[in-house]
Amino acid sequence: NRRVVLAHRPDGAPLPRDFRLEEVAIPAPSDGQLLLQTVYLSLDPYMRGRMSDAASYAPPLAPGDVMVGGTVSRVVDSRHPQFRKGELVLGFDGWQEYALSDGSDLTRLGDAAHPSYALSVLGMPGFTAYHALLKIGQPIPGETVVVAAASGAVGSVLGQIGKIKGARVIGIAGGADKCRYVVDELGFDACLDRRDPDFARKLAEACPDGIDIYHESVGGAVFDAVLPLLNDHARVPVSGSIAHYNETGVSSAPDRLPQLLSALVFRRIRVQGFIILDHYADGYEEFQRDMSEWVAAGRVKLKEDVVAGIENAPAAFIGLLEGCNFGKVVVRVAD
Ligand code: NDP
Repeated sequence: NRRVVLAHRPDGAPLPRDFRLEEVAIPAPSDGQLLLQTVYLSLDPYMRGRMSDAASYAPPLAPGDVMVGGTVSRVVDSRHPQFRKGELVLGFDGWQEYALSDGSDLTRLGDAAHPSYALSVLGMPGFTAYHALLKIGQPIPGETVVVAAASGAVGSVLGQIGKIKGARVIGIAGGADKCRYVVDELGFDACLDRRDPDFARKLAEACPDGIDIYHESVGGAVFDAVLPLLNDHARVPVSGSIAHYNETGVSSAPDRLPQLLSALVFRRIRVQGFIILDHYADGYEEFQRDMSEWVAAGRVKLKEDVVAGIENAPAAFIGLLEGCNFGKVVVRVAD
């Protein structure tokens, strides 16, 4: 039973030595428990926050703890009346090959056509996109929606929902390949390369009527280019600021607060942060219904960036924070 634990809190970007691969015995289930074998592990940006002891919405990991994460697992041994051997379940068992559960934290996946989608388009990142755009952004047909990290797990889904709802959708992504994919495969109206030296001017050209909704998940220079283009009464759902996740202590970025505050007031812009965990009780069923339909009908597509082997999770996670991933990152832990 191999597992990856937090070895050190990172100073800046995580390094391979901040993780430790350990081998421990496979645990045995007692009455009422199940033994789960991880098939897929989801890698998500929030995990960087758990590695740090800075104040957050969730408690940090301690050095020595198994890295947390969403998992799709197979029941390999069951001493629980409601689960049988061979079933696939969605859980939160972290970066390890085997785990015990009492069943209370598991969702059955039945005969799901694509089990790993429970970690992406049909799960937490998909729900994040759905909530951000439809509950906070509330697009009106014809409005301009701009999406940061547009080829990624949340952004790709958010932009496709925007198209379904009749918006004009402009993506922002890192590199020409990602931008091509976002337009050609996902059907966005345009996509701008955030690394292009002329990025801000090109974004303005692509948004001749300004921006009505901006899904913020990046911050930094991308936000600087977006801010002057936000229309009166623009809505800005904020799910994250990944460009800043590797900053330890006070950011060295320039202070944008005075311009931001003036813009919010003068243009009556509404910015709303959220943590998707708060919304499962009131919105998850509706999301599941709509998104299952859209995925089955091919109206929402997903690209997965699959990494083989738990031992490769640290490198893949370090890469995710630098934009090396192309699509939703999942680790294939077992067949
Ligand atoms: P992605 O699959 O989009 O991967 C992260 C992407 O972020 C990278 O591929 C890269 O895309 C972009 N990125 C990385 N570093 C930088 C940088 N320095 N500047 C600009 N872009 C960068 O991840 P997710 O879709 O899983 O997550 C996207 C965002 O949503 C994150 O901020 C995450 O924290 C947030 N989130 C928030 C939730 C909430 O409840 N609030 C829930 C789920 C996600 P590229 O190179 O193409 O720009």
